[in-house]
Amino acid sequence: MSERDIKPINILTRISKPVIKEHMEGVYTATVPIGGIVWFETGQGTVLIDTLVNIPMAEHVLSSIHEKIKYIIYTHGHSDHVGGSKVFMVDNPEVIASIFLPDRFERYQFLKPYRNLIAAMQFNIPKQLFGQGLEKYVYPTKTFFGDYTFELGRYTFELHTARGETDDAIWVYVPELNAVVVGDLIMGSWFPNVGNPWKPTRFALDWVKALERIQALEPDYVFCKGGGYLFKGDNAKKALNDNIEVIRSLHDQVVKLINEEMHISEMIHTVKVPEHLKNSRFLKQAYSRPEFFVYNVYRWYHGYYDHNPAHLIPRPEEEVMKEIYGLIGDKGKIISRVNNLFDQEQYQLALQVLDILLQSEPKDVEALRLRMKLVKSLALKDSCIMSKNAYFYSIKKDKQAIHRIQKNSNNKPK
Ligand SMILES: [Zn+2]
Repeated sequence: MSERDIKPINILTRISKPVIKEHMEGVYTATVPIGGIVWFETGQGTVLIDTLVNIPMAEHVLSSIHEKIKYIIYTHGHSDHVGGSKVFMVDNPEVIASIFLPDRFERYQFLKPYRNLIAAMQFNIPKQLFGQGLEKYVYPTKTFFGDYTFELGRYTFELHTARGETDDAIWVYVPELNAVVVGDLIMGSWFPNVGNPWKPTRFALDWVKALERIQALEPDYVFCKGGGYLFKGDNAKKALNDNIEVIRSLHDQVVKLINEEMHISEMIHTVKVPEHLKNSRFLKQAYSRPEFFVYNVYRWYHGYYDHNPAHLIPRPEEEVMKEIYGLIGDKGKIISRVNNLFDQEQYQLALQVLDILLQSEPKDVEALRLRMKLVKSLALKDSCIMSKNAYFYSIKKDKQAIHRIQKNSNNKPK
């Protein structure tokens, strides 16, 4: 693999221009890699579902919307679905969302520093890009819980709240077209985003129930990943089926193993995607991955305590690692074992062994360099955007730390 392969993956870039497509008369999508929007021109105005990642993307799309925007529907409050709203407010549309969406915007405000940090890691963007506060968001003018239907021109819009990737999800059925807009309940060709290592727990069981309700409608068209990707006919069926099967299967495996008291660190390696779904083109592990799914379902049903009394009210990790390091008593022993494990391609185990040294001696340049090498090896093998970017972030931080340490030691009076 080339050096180029460890480049972080940026799917939120400011400059990416949405691709606009008309699918049926008056039904359009605008799509970027992380998702997109769909709008319906009804003859009496436009119903727009989601608003893209940011203002520049939304501005790029606005002139392609031909009828006045009368309604905006948020499939959920994730920033990449609501970030461009201001641009579409010219005709004062009704903005419809789940009753739980405003709470999300409030959380985004009080967690701003943390969210800036994790967005920088997850999406590989500069921190300030996520730095906008509440002023960025357009609050809904109408919220609801359960079902809500309205008509405009030639179409009916049946809205349903759900819990899936978030607690504020909405999916929309348009009976005249037998079309459904599922938001992020289906992530295009990506494995469902049931687990995210930085984010609160998600709702696997409710998620699959919502998808089963949608499946029962036997839709001909499934707009997903926000609304920007479209599956038709057999593809729509298969996308629904494979997502439902994989979520049910992984969820049920985790539940079974919780009941059998398996430790979470073993569980993430035990739970498997069913063999017949492994190569599904609707479940590519390009963004999220099964290990994240397992952690997530575990966290939803299980407390933090793993039944080992050493972990009930633990001492700080650094203090414990220092004790172990003191017992080993020799940095060389750790480095040599880590190199050994590296040669056997046991990068993850090596990283955890090296951690004993690094938590005790965080400014040890040799250990920092070794960690960079291990993390790079993990990143090279990885195809999942979230873990790859997490590894890349760690490499960047270690590089900066080494630079700082060397600069300080050069400045010291000799
Ligand atoms: Zn989302």
